[in-house]
Amino acid sequence: MDLWFTERYPQGWGITFKIERSLYSGKSRYQRIDVLETAGHGRLLVIDGCVMFTEADEFVYHEMLTHVPLFSHPNPKRVLVIGGGDGGAVREIVRHSCVEEVVLVDIDEDVIKVSREFFPSVSCELDNPKVQVLAEDGVRYLESCPPKSFDIILVDSTDPVGPAVGLFEKPFFEKCFRALKRDGIMAAQSGSPYFQLDLVGRVHRTVAQVFPAVRTYIAGTPSYGGLWTFVIGSKNGDPAQGPIREDQLAVSDLKYYNYEVHKGAFALPNYILREIGKQEK
Ligand code: SAM
Repeated sequence: MDLWFTERYPQGWGITFKIERSLYSGKSRYQRIDVLETAGHGRLLVIDGCVMFTEADEFVYHEMLTHVPLFSHPNPKRVLVIGGGDGGAVREIVRHSCVEEVVLVDIDEDVIKVSREFFPSVSCELDNPKVQVLAEDGVRYLESCPPKSFDIILVDSTDPVGPAVGLFEKPFFEKCFRALKRDGIMAAQSGSPYFQLDLVGRVHRTVAQVFPAVRTYIAGTPSYGGLWTFVIGSKNGDPAQGPIREDQLAVSDLKYYNYEVHKGAFALPNYILREIGKQEK
């Protein structure tokens, strides 16, 4: 018997994986979590019917969410991750030897448990002594966080439904701004430029109301149906100028990110430029 999983997008699109078997299915306080063994892409994490990542191409998303902001900062020491309970972003952050402390705040402790059990290659650094893992709402955490606490804040959230709605709104980005130090940088996943173009534009414009420098950048992630966008807000300096640190060699075994990819990720197609309110070049 052939088993297939499809995440359905609006406008009659979908992304489909051939499934060998289901490894886990459960309902947490916040969401339904599934782990599926695919025929060709390793294990697949699904939350509320949406693809979070596959083992085959998670490196693209996790490397681009983390290394673009981290290499745009002169000396990142304290990093906060909101969401990202799977640990993929944390795994990439601790490759930077200058980072002294990472705080991961995911609302759902079940995601953290499931990733530890079924995705050891993704969750492998959650027990690193530099990493503190908290099961808490990211918005609440930031409300109680002293000003100027972090060099980098990464928002590795689910789409803006359920508990993640607040993570895409202006008051949240204002809290991020407040919690960042003088050279601070925030980066967040901001959706698919095919299936969620309005979201891409809305998030960019909202972050631009809060941060002096804002950019949208892209990466190709097959499991998300093609291109994916990230938004980056900086208190000081333009991340699109390229990496500003010289220690790339320390992370030379990366599979996606490099100097040219960093710069090239900010080259946007016209239809995305129009949506975020920038002129075509
Ligand atoms: N790569 C991803 C994707 O495809 O969207 C994101 C993966 S990561 C698993 C998303 C995480 O965001 C989930 O574990 C979810 O529990 C967490 N999350 C959602 N809302 C949150 C909130 N308000 N505070 C903290 N974490 C939140």
